[in-house]
Order: sequence, then C-alpha cells, then structure tokens
Amino acid sequence: MEITFLGTSSMCPTKERNHSAIFLKYKSHGILIDCGEGTQRQIKIAGIKIPDVTKILITHWHGDHVLGLPGLIQTRSMTETPTPMEIYGPKGIKKHIKNAFETFDVRPTFQINITEVGTGEFFKNEDFSMHALPLKHNIPCVGYTFNEADKRRINIENVKKTGIPEGPLLGDLQQGKTISWKGKKITPEQTTYLVKGKKITFIIDTGLTQNCFKLAENADILVCEATYASKLEEKATERNHLTSLEAAQIASKANTKKLILTHFSQRYKNTQEIEEDARNAFDNVVCAKDFMRTIV
Ligand SMILES: [Zn+2]
Ligand SMILES: [Zn+2]
Repeated sequence: MEITFLGTSSMCPTKERNHSAIFLKYKSHGILIDCGEGTQRQIKIAGIKIPDVTKILITHWHGDHVLGLPGLIQTRSMTETPTPMEIYGPKGIKKHIKNAFETFDVRPTFQINITEVGTGEFFKNEDFSMHALPLKHNIPCVGYTFNEADKRRINIENVKKTGIPEGPLLGDLQQGKTISWKGKKITPEQTTYLVKGKKITFIIDTGLTQNCFKLAENADILVCEATYASKLEEKATERNHLTSLEAAQIASKANTKKLILTHFSQRYKNTQEIEEDARNAFDNVVCAKDFMRTIV
C-alpha cells in the first residue's frame, strides 16, 4: 500500500503546494481523496496514470477540495479504455457533481456511480472496507477510514506436524474454517496466524469534534489537516479547522501509530512551527510535502 500526497495546501496554493489531493494505491485500486484544482497535473507529475484512479472520496464540496474534479473526469474520458468509477462524498454530492458536469459540459464516457455517505461502512470487499463519519465544518464534511482486512497466514511449522498436504484443506484453514484430517478436527487457530490489516484515517477540514477520535482510533497512519499552529488557535476554531497541536492530541488519545499533517495555510513558508507545535503532544509526526510518498 502506498500513499502519495498530491496537494498539501489549504485554500490558497503556493509555488510548492497544490490544493488538496491524496492518492492511495492498494492492489488494483487507486483511491483519490479529494481532487483540488490542478490535481490531474499533479497525478501526471507523480507518475500515476489517470485511468488508475478508480475511486474518489470527496471530504466536502469546498473549492480547494473539488475544483479539479470536472477536469479529471474529462481527461479520464479521453483515455482509450476507461473503466467504471465510484465517487463517494457527503450529502449533496450527487447534486453538486451533476451541476458541475452540466456547467462545464463534462460528458463522461464511462460509468460513474455516486454514493452519498454519512455514518459507518460504505464499501467492503474481501480485501478492505471503508468507513465515513461526519466532521465539523461550515458545510457537510466527512472523514474517512480505509481498513485492510485481517489475513490468516499458514503456520508452516505447525502444518508440517499435522501432515496436511498443500491444497484445498489448507485453503479452508486460511479462510478460518475448521477441517477434519485423519479423523481429527484441525482448527485454524492451530495451523494459522492472524495478520492484522492496516488502518489509514483521513481527517481533512474540521473543527475539533468527537468523531475525529473515533475515526483515528488505533490507526496505523492518521492523515490529518493542520491548517494552523497553536498561536492561531482562535482563528482555527472560528473557521472550523484544526491546529497542529489538536491534530497531535487526536493522534495521541486515539492511539495512532503515525501522524502525517497536511492542508497548511499559505502563511507558513516552512512547516517548522507546525511540526514543533505537534511534537508537544505526539512524537511520530511528519508534515507532508507535495509528491511525498509513504509506504504502509
Ligand atoms: Zn480546505
Ligand atoms: Zn473546507
């Protein structure tokens, strides 16, 4: 699994930072979280192919998070074999996308399924599931979690002792089923071990709210907005944004392993103040840069 930061600015982009977009690559899935203005160029510069974007998760309909969507869909329509795409977002997203496509005369040549998400699980296959919870912003806004499924792996030593040959019986054990072998019951607990799936949380644009902690709970990686450092806490609260210290407190209380901060105000020429502010509450923190890649 790989996370690529395509845009790490807040409302105003800078020479170094583009508007919000993050790309999560997992097996054949390419999940784009937000699609700020210019995201399709960022995708190309990052060496990602436009058709590789198979799902888009929109956090909310503010321009710095969605202005790149019509253009991306237009370009994807020009590719030779565009596959269907799913777009998820908070209440109102269907109407917003329809209006945007009409306004810009965007005519997708592939199927787009749009789902409005609120609370809880909205996608699941055998490899992973995704959840949403409402956040606290000026308009409907959601945070997301990507949850890789736990996997059973064969404990080769223990299987050797039982004498079970390679084949469907081992497959059954790996799927968590108890089997019969030479008149004995063999359980998955005896012959396999569980590898916990990774959890990645995305909290972008919100004031501090209880759902931040729920979303971030036990996450391997929390990607969190930190528009301001603590000196501007009042401004952050007034505008429904987080400070870097608040993001770090979420990571700490929610037992998160690693915190990656993003969505910085243009006033920060570098992220030293933001990072130092966060370290007061949580050590394993980095500030994202455009095109930064994290292997999970
Ligand atoms: Zn924003
Ligand atoms: Zn916003």
